[in-house]
Amino acid sequence: MQVVAGVDLGGTNINYTLVDKEGNFLIEEMCEHPALTKQGPAVCLKQLESGLKFATQQAGVDVADIVVVGLDTPGPASSAGVLSSRGSTNFVHPEWKGFDIREQIAHKLGKPVTYLNDANAGALWGHYAIFGANSRETSISIIVGTGAGGGVIVGGKVLKGRVGFGGELGHVLLPYQSIAEIAGLEPHCNCGRTGDVESVCSLTAIERTLLPYFLTKYPGHELGKMDLHEAAKLVRGLADEGDAMSRDIFRVQARALGMFFDEMVNTFDPDALIVGGGVLETSLKFQHWFVVEVRKGMGNQREEQADIPIYVMPNGDTAGARGAAIEALNLARQSGLF
Ligand SMILES: [Zn+2]
Repeated sequence: MQVVAGVDLGGTNINYTLVDKEGNFLIEEMCEHPALTKQGPAVCLKQLESGLKFATQQAGVDVADIVVVGLDTPGPASSAGVLSSRGSTNFVHPEWKGFDIREQIAHKLGKPVTYLNDANAGALWGHYAIFGANSRETSISIIVGTGAGGGVIVGGKVLKGRVGFGGELGHVLLPYQSIAEIAGLEPHCNCGRTGDVESVCSLTAIERTLLPYFLTKYPGHELGKMDLHEAAKLVRGLADEGDAMSRDIFRVQARALGMFFDEMVNTFDPDALIVGGGVLETSLKFQHWFVVEVRKGMGNQREEQADIPIYVMPNGDTAGARGAAIEALNLARQSGLF
């Protein structure tokens, strides 16, 4: 049996999946292994290899059956999988700076390895889940969690860009000044920009900007008595339950995403818009409400584009590994390895 592997290497955990020739996923749930990235590349790569063995056992196949490994990691990294020379917040050991992670894993495993950053891998999974293999469609995915990332799939292929920053959608600027509910607010992002997607649509934005702002409008709210860092994490659950302030916060995020999607509709004329990440790990009812609010934020669309679908990305927590596996599957098919 021939398979490809998807390996989602994060700062804390490595998540694995395996896919057969026909595109069937052989691991349904999360298959996780500690990454030990703080101990440096040598220890981490050993972990990656032992986790891969464990994953293949779970799926009833052998490591020797893997024809291509699809890898994804958090950025910044080049499109070829070289981590930034300035380092990464997720990989703190000094030896990770400028580390050619794709090449080193290929060398260690003795197999071809494809590379995507984690957001682009998630976007590829979202696209594949909707359009399947061999698609020629175009989709825009935005993944909202602690930060905001995403990806652009054009004609079925990930747009990686010249130096690997293609689809860095979290840092696209928004006309946030036109969101009436946050008039006068200046949302700042870690990247230095003011008013980009992540500065409004992320858990960080809730903690830093939106929650402090809305607490002034809801004096006596229960979250006002808590530490902001802890309180921010409760906003999603409260919004899902219908809490008015928390709904206000999520409405602002939805409207901002709508503005962003409007920009993307005018740039790419895509077949689908996809929202993923922790923001919609909620009840179906809340997901539906949120998507309706996103559409309101998009404003009036041309008649031809008004029916553009907005999807919620499935399997959010395993999207990275799944997308990495799809990239590997594409290489295996194109190069005749399958
Ligand atoms: Zn930013």
